[in-house]
Amino acid sequence: MRMIGLRTKYGKSQRVYNSIYPYVDSTLMDKVIKCPLCTSINNSKKFNDYPGSFLNCYELIQCLECALIFAYPLPLNKELNEYYASGLYYDKVSNPFSAGFIEFSLELAKSRLRLISDHVNFISGMRMIDIGAGNAQFSTALNELNDQFIYDAVEPDSNVSDQYGDLVSNHYYKISQVNKNTYDLAVLNQVLEHVSDPVEFLSSVSELIRERGYVYIDVPYQDYLFKPSVDPHILFWNQTCLKLLAAKTGFKVYFCDTAGMPHTAAKRFFYGPKNFRQKISNPWLYQRKINRLFGKMRLPKPFNTFRQFQSDHYSGDRQWLRCIAQKI
Ligand SMILES: [Zn+2]
Repeated sequence: MRMIGLRTKYGKSQRVYNSIYPYVDSTLMDKVIKCPLCTSINNSKKFNDYPGSFLNCYELIQCLECALIFAYPLPLNKELNEYYASGLYYDKVSNPFSAGFIEFSLELAKSRLRLISDHVNFISGMRMIDIGAGNAQFSTALNELNDQFIYDAVEPDSNVSDQYGDLVSNHYYKISQVNKNTYDLAVLNQVLEHVSDPVEFLSSVSELIRERGYVYIDVPYQDYLFKPSVDPHILFWNQTCLKLLAAKTGFKVYFCDTAGMPHTAAKRFFYGPKNFRQKISNPWLYQRKINRLFGKMRLPKPFNTFRQFQSDHYSGDRQWLRCIAQKI
């Protein structure tokens, strides 16, 4: 019986492997760095240490083939799914249903819709799916534009989706639960910087969209340049990379440009003086407090929370990247 055990494929390969490469083990295997966008292997360089702390990520790597910057090691899908279902994300960013954040999200949704409606015909009865929908304010903004629509949401965090009420027609926890070939428009607001396999991810989103339907993508643009911590972001997009992703997944890009606050202003915003720590951790809450205080004193409000984000301004070094593409 012992002889049979030694002859197993696993036992044999282990012995051969160990005798030829006595010092090569799994640590070298770990160093195989594969670009999650263009899949080139070990054709990359260290770009920086990972700014912040997220799972096991400790470096930012830049692919020398397609220029995508990504966190290393990239977390596994399972780790990411657990993280986003757990409520940890919204603990970190902000309570998505706080009054300040709702107000901000609605203004941002309106700004995104202004851009989308320049390129997409908003037909009556249109079907839209918002993936990573957060507080679902896109629905409120859409209602002002056209009240004949179906707005479905994918949101893994049940503490968030439990509060949707009438905002959302159908709620799903994951993309695999959604009906395929259904939607006129899929929205990915601040989502693609959180996934470890963007080609597989956008392909699965594409399956939900009808032929000639659209996808709207909104991601941070080079946020490692203006934020002390980028966690939990793991992919860092530029125009070239987004266009490559679109091409790989069967989309034709109609618009792709930077938007929002210029990097210089964003850097001042995110690296404020230390006594304004609250402003960094929760700018909406902070600004509401100050505005309320000034309102009581009958002074003009010092902050227009939204206006400083210059959300309808485009081109150059700005904080976001917006992209509209059609399924071909
Ligand atoms: Zn690459």
